[in-house]
Amino acid sequence: MNRADNLKRLQTEHFDICVIGGGASGAGCALDAALRGFRVALIEKNDFAAETSSRSTKLIHGGVRYLEQAFKKLDLGQLRQVRHGLEERHTVIKNAPHLARPQALLTPVSNWFQGLYLAIGLRIYDWIAGKKDPLPRSRWLSKKEALRRMPGLNPKGLHSAVLYYDGQHNDARYCLAVAHTAAEAGAAVVNHLEVTGFRKDENGKLTGLTAKDLTREAEPITVKARLFINCTGPFSDHIRQLANPAQEHRIRPSKGVHVLLPFATLNSHDAMLIPKTPDGRVVFAIPFEGKVLLGTTDEDYPDPEKEPILERREVDFLLDTLAPYLVAPPSADQVRAGFGGLRPLIAAKPGKSTKRLVRDHEVEHDPESNLLSLLGGKWTTYRLMAKDTLDKACEILGTAAPCTTEEQLLVGAANFREDGWKDLEGLPEDVARHLSLAYGDRAGQVVWLTRQIPAYAERLVEGHPFIRAEVAYTVGNEMACTLRDILGRRMRLEITDWEAAKVAAPKVAALLGDFFEWDDTRVKLETEAYLATVDGWERAAKG
Ligand SMILES: Cc1cc2nc3c(=O)[nH]c(=O)nc-3n(C[C@H](O)[C@H](O)[C@H](O)COP(=O)(O)OP(=O)(O)OC[C@H]3O[C@@H](n4cnc5c(N)ncnc54)[C@H](O)[C@@H]3O)c2cc1C
Repeated sequence: MNRADNLKRLQTEHFDICVIGGGASGAGCALDAALRGFRVALIEKNDFAAETSSRSTKLIHGGVRYLEQAFKKLDLGQLRQVRHGLEERHTVIKNAPHLARPQALLTPVSNWFQGLYLAIGLRIYDWIAGKKDPLPRSRWLSKKEALRRMPGLNPKGLHSAVLYYDGQHNDARYCLAVAHTAAEAGAAVVNHLEVTGFRKDENGKLTGLTAKDLTREAEPITVKARLFINCTGPFSDHIRQLANPAQEHRIRPSKGVHVLLPFATLNSHDAMLIPKTPDGRVVFAIPFEGKVLLGTTDEDYPDPEKEPILERREVDFLLDTLAPYLVAPPSADQVRAGFGGLRPLIAAKPGKSTKRLVRDHEVEHDPESNLLSLLGGKWTTYRLMAKDTLDKACEILGTAAPCTTEEQLLVGAANFREDGWKDLEGLPEDVARHLSLAYGDRAGQVVWLTRQIPAYAERLVEGHPFIRAEVAYTVGNEMACTLRDILGRRMRLEITDWEAAKVAAPKVAALLGDFFEWDDTRVKLETEAYLATVDGWERAAKG
C-alpha cells in the first residue's frame, strides 16, 4: 500500500483491468481480478470507502424486511436477494473475523399475534440460510428474558421479543482490508486520485483514462488498460457519461442517515430491530464501537456531489421512532455524532420493472465504449457482485479464470484469534482489544511502533482506545493521507463521537505534518478546516 510506488506503476504499466472507485464494489472487483491473474489498477477519488461504503448500517444480512416484501408482493427478485445475502453472510465473517462477527438482534413484540408473525418469518429466514449456516437460529423470548438481555427496553406494553442473528462489520476497515488484500495480490491501488476523462481509439473504445492527484498540484496522469470497470456507486452515471455521453441516467441516489447515542441507551450487546416505522420501514439500533448506532432513513437525494449530512429533522424522526421502545428515551442533546450516506439504487431500464432492480445489482456493458459498470447492490453481497462483474470481464477479454475470493482471507485475518489481544503486552486492555479487532494479526506491528517511540503509546483522547502509533501505522501501511482518512475510516471516531474527534484532530494533524513534512501553517490550516467541518455537522444536527 505504498502510494508513491503505485502512482508510478499507474503511469508506466499497461493494465488488463482498471477499476474506478474504491468502495466495497471497486475494492471487491480489484481483489477478484488480481486473484484471477489480471494486471489490475484501482483508482479512488477520495479514500477507500469514503462514500457509501463507510456510511452503512454495518449489517451483513439477507434483510428481514426484504423477506417480508418478497412474500407480500410475491417478488422473486427480493427473495433471491435475501438468499444471496444469507449465503454471503458466512463468507464475509469467515474471511475477516477481526472485522465482522455475528450480531444478535432483538425485536420487541407487543402482542402474541405479532410475536407469532415475526417468529414464523424469522424461522423462514433461518431456513433460507440453510442447515450449514453457522449463525445461531432465531428464538422467541419471554418478556423476562428480553428485559434481562436488554435492560434499556420499556417493559410497558412489551409482550415478548423475537431474537435472531445477522452479521455486523466495521464497514470502512473491511473495505480497506479488501483493497489492501488486492494490493498484496499485485494490484496497483491509489486513493485521492480522481478520474477526469477517458482516451478512446478510432472505434470509440476506451484505451486509457486521465486522472488528477488530489493531494498535490500536478499534471494529470494517463492510465492505460484493456478494460475499465466503473464501480463509483452513487456517482456511476458521471463515469458512464464520461465514457459515452449518449448513456441515459441509471442511478437514483437515496439518502439514509444514522445517529450515534451512548451505549447506555440500550445497555445491551444485542441490537434492536424496530419492525415498522411510521413511513413503513425498519429501523435498527445497534451497538457499535462503544455506542449505539441508530438508523436509517430513505429519501431521494438528487445531487450526489454534495455530502449528505445528518439534519435535525432526521434526528427527531429517528429518536421519535425509538422512544416508545425504551424506558429512558434519549434526547437530541445525547446525540454524540451522526452521518449520512447515499444508496446507489438503480432505476429500471426503459420498459423494465423497477421492482426487481431496486435492491439488486446489475453488470452493464456499454458496447460502444466497452465500459463495464457494476451498478447498485449492497455491502453484504459485494463479493458476489464482484464475481459477476469479473465473469463478464473474462468474457470480454477472452480469458477463462475462475473466481477464488470465497476462500481468500483478507489482510489481518490469517492468524487472528479472538483472545489474540492478550498477546499485545504492555498496553491497557481496552487499547489491546481495539488494536486486535481493527488490525487483526497485524496489531503487533502497531505495538512494535510503540516500543520504538514510547510516546506513540499515548491515547489520542482520554477515554477512547485510539493511540498515536495508529497514525504512524496507517500512514505507512494503509495509505492514510488526511485527517478524515484517519479519524473517519482508519479509526471510527469521526462517526461515533464528534467532540472526541475534535480533541484528537490537532494531534493527528501534527503527526501527519511530521510524515508529510507540512509546515506549521499547513498543520494549523488542516486542523482548522477539520474542526470547521465537524462544527458544521454539529450545527446541522442541532438545527
Ligand atoms: C444509509 C445506508 C445504509 C446501508 N446499510 C447497509 C447494510 O447494513 N448492509 C448492506 O449490506 N448494505 C448497506 N448499504 C448499502 C451499501 O453500503 C452500498 O451498497 C455499498 O457500500 C456501495 O458500495 P459502492 O462501492 O458501490 O459505492 P461507494 O462506497 O460509494 O464507492 C464508490 C466510490 O467511487 C469513488 N468515485 C466517485 N467518482 C470517482 C472518480 N471520478 N474517480 C475515482 N473514484 C471515484 C467514490 O469516491 C467512492 O469511494 C447501506 C447504504 C446506505 C446509504
